[in-house]
Amino acid sequence: MSQQPGSLRAELVGAFGDPIDENPTGIMQEAAFEAAGLNWRYLLLRVTADDLSSAISGLRAMRFRGINLTIPHKVAVLRYLDEVAPDAALIGAVNTVRRSADRLIGENTDGKGFLRSVCEDARVDPSGKRIVFLGAGGAARAMSVELALAGASHITIVNRTQSRGDELVRTLNANTPAKAEFVQWVGDYPVPPEADILVNATSIGLYPNTGDKPPVMMATVGPGLLVCDVIPNPPQTAFLTSAAARGARTLDGLGMLVYQGAIAFKLWTGLEPSIPVMRQALEKVFRT
Ligand code: NDP
Repeated sequence: MSQQPGSLRAELVGAFGDPIDENPTGIMQEAAFEAAGLNWRYLLLRVTADDLSSAISGLRAMRFRGINLTIPHKVAVLRYLDEVAPDAALIGAVNTVRRSADRLIGENTDGKGFLRSVCEDARVDPSGKRIVFLGAGGAARAMSVELALAGASHITIVNRTQSRGDELVRTLNANTPAKAEFVQWVGDYPVPPEADILVNATSIGLYPNTGDKPPVMMATVGPGLLVCDVIPNPPQTAFLTSAAARGARTLDGLGMLVYQGAIAFKLWTGLEPSIPVMRQALEKVFRT
């Protein structure tokens, strides 16, 4: 069979991080590329903080179509990009870079992935809702900015470290229509009765510490609340199990991980990936 020149060359994307060996995103993206019949490869690349500048130069030279950034590069990468999407600039971090001609454009798909999971998996429209985030790190920043931009009316940031919480609240109040407030996290947090959505945006409960739960007064959790967890591994966290036992609806962190990857796939390829294929690929990694 005749072959067009260049058609054997795979398009390249991947992830820069340190550590990177356990990152499951490649399995999910490669499954989606195969299902879509695309000759694309997703490479897990160990890049130290000191080597990020050279790695970005290499990415440009090898004409990668894009890259994901994980620890420790999500903030540091900003200075090497030609453009940053407005929401990623507000979040102050980039987890996905796409190449458009010779320009590298920074995006953040974490919060958008969470928003899509809330809308499509939990079937809740965040518009007009009161949302409480436990944590003020990178994940909380991404999620709270996107939900505020999607019309959430009130956002409470509950965090152990005040400076981080205050900073996020200032960002939300200055740049989004939502009204945001900070609550210092001391002891078991009592969820206000008017809250619609409660989100664990901390790393508490992540494998291997699967018995750990964020300190929340569970007597204040009830059937009116949607309780979400950012932890994708294991998807059914001890926190979600406790919330479900109180009659609350729950949403796990696997959906967010799938959708943030699906949004990156679309940014890179211009195509919608198969969500079931991506989800099944991740479930195999996390549940076996
Ligand atoms: P960061 O390190 O940036 O932030 C961690 C946050 O958790 C901080 O607010 C920190 O509080 C808080 N925290 C950690 N331990 C405790 C504790 N014992 N008690 C109270 N607060 C605590 O991490 P990220 O925001 O980047 O990531 C958080 C989690 O989100 C990770 O587990 C990550 O795997 C997950 N994640 C999931 C995604 C998905 O798609 N499902 C996407 C991105 C992240 P303080 O400021 O006081 O230190």
